[in-house]
Amino acid sequence: MIPDTTDYQAVFNELANQAQQIDDVGEVASYIPELQRIDSDKFGIHLTTVDNRNFGVGDSQEKFSIQSISKVLSLVLAIKLVGGKLWQRVGVEPSGTPFNSLIQLELEKGIPRNPFINAGAIVVCDVLVSLLDDPKQQLLEFVREITDDQTIDYNIVVAESERKTSYINTAHINLMKAHGNIYNDIDTVLELYFHLCSIEMNCYELAQTFLFLAYQGVNPFTNKQVLTVSASKRINAIMQTCGFYDEAGEFSFKVGLPGKSGVGGGIIAIRPGKYCIAVWSPKLNAKGNSYKGMKILEYFTTRTQCSIF
Ligand code: GLN
Repeated sequence: MIPDTTDYQAVFNELANQAQQIDDVGEVASYIPELQRIDSDKFGIHLTTVDNRNFGVGDSQEKFSIQSISKVLSLVLAIKLVGGKLWQRVGVEPSGTPFNSLIQLELEKGIPRNPFINAGAIVVCDVLVSLLDDPKQQLLEFVREITDDQTIDYNIVVAESERKTSYINTAHINLMKAHGNIYNDIDTVLELYFHLCSIEMNCYELAQTFLFLAYQGVNPFTNKQVLTVSASKRINAIMQTCGFYDEAGEFSFKVGLPGKSGVGGGIIAIRPGKYCIAVWSPKLNAKGNSYKGMKILEYFTTRTQCSIF
């Protein structure tokens, strides 16, 4: 591997300036009441390279709700447990629809397009409920093992807040149950899903956690094989094509990296062989992705002239 000597800190200092000048027309997610309480001006970035150089600016050490970014972690665990059989119950095609859209799900008889839209992640949770004795605890232990950090936790206030307003997710799971694609009790599966979404991390922890996807499935610090090389390739591929819902093409076009967003305003992106970068800015664009986060990542890959393309 050719050593990467890019001075990311210098680029980040530019980015921090750039970020202040962006007129952030996004809005904080309000459909989960607890997420609305966040200070919308928060902004942080952190990058960890595969040879453990770390660069950060802004609120990069402050924890936030990682929301759908965690769908990558539940998918990784499900693939480890059931392998390719998972794809009989969820697809790998971009949806081209919002993360919580019901339209395709009815037309396609309860088989979600991919594991990163809500319906797909709910099926993944159903798989975990079928296979694990204590799914909530075992999922958390799995995440702590990957991050090598025992302090990573659910935010039960956020999970409860989501449960109270879960009308659309409840519609998704009922539709899939009617089509035979949910095997377990609906409330048990949703309980796991809401907790999954409520996991909290800061940008530093996110960059460290997902670094295995930049290193062919191996955590370069602990040397633990999280996934096979092939499975790691596939997760990156799904992130590239489905990580941003009906904005996946736009993210690919402008940023050029596999990535995943969450309605907490976080985004992670992977440069295979080099680094994982995490950005946090809570105001979202109309597609539910961080407005400023997308712009900053576009600036970053343009400025460093480094993407997967
Ligand atoms: N918890 C959120 C939901 O189910 C996750 C959505 C997201 O981050 N895009 O609606």
